[in-house]
Amino acid sequence: PPLYKQRYQFIKDLVGKYKPKKVADLGCADCTLLWMLKFCSCIEVLAGLDICASVMKEKMHRLSPLPGDYLQPAERSLTVTLHHGSVAHKDPCMLGFDLVTCIELIEHLDQSELKKFPAVVFGFMAPSIVVISTPNSEFNPLLPGVTLFRHPDHKFEWNRAQFQSWALETARRYDYSVEFTGVGHPPTGMENVGFCTQIGVFVRKYPQTSESAQSEKPTEAVYKTVFKAVY
Ligand code: SAM
Repeated sequence: PPLYKQRYQFIKDLVGKYKPKKVADLGCADCTLLWMLKFCSCIEVLAGLDICASVMKEKMHRLSPLPGDYLQPAERSLTVTLHHGSVAHKDPCMLGFDLVTCIELIEHLDQSELKKFPAVVFGFMAPSIVVISTPNSEFNPLLPGVTLFRHPDHKFEWNRAQFQSWALETARRYDYSVEFTGVGHPPTGMENVGFCTQIGVFVRKYPQTSESAQSEKPTEAVYKTVFKAVY
């Protein structure tokens, strides 16, 4: 399967393993991952965030309930919300999540956004699990036509050592553990370059109730809600 599907499948497998009730996808783009996750029966709250409102709106109708969803009410409730805003800013609507996914997002952040990102995601949102994926630049020589970066909007692409040192330092600072994996296997004989997409799975080391998470962090709302569906 294409690489993006392997990344989404990785998240679906993780949802199957940890059974989170509340999942937020940061940099959700056209909401394809959110749409896939709405079929996971453990999930009761799904939220998407993107800095580009137009890309979010492209296919967001897919997140609306179908007639059958009302004829055959499920035993679980599901709320899907889309927010317009930046991962460089805190908003209370992002509190209380169990899993936060950032798939191919960080390489689109400029220096000042990347600097603020850990405090927002790990310090403020502080979910029990954070997944971050980003290109592994060591794989680039195997990709036809890639000279500097895989995409013109990428601000950087990291090798494994660069990503891992950033991730380990972030995990240490915010009291998370982190394990590294990836998707997109290199061809036989080239195993030394690592996965095409590198992935860090961060697990919070300290317990936190959603009540304490919300009440201790008075913050002004800055995101704009662009979509909401209740099943
Ligand atoms: N996560 C999706 C996926 O895996 O298919 C989309 C990844 S796309 C390469 C990166 C997305 O991040 C874009 O939709 C872009 O608008 C969004 N983005 C870039 N900077 C952002 C920021 N500061 N806050 C939120 N989203 C941002």
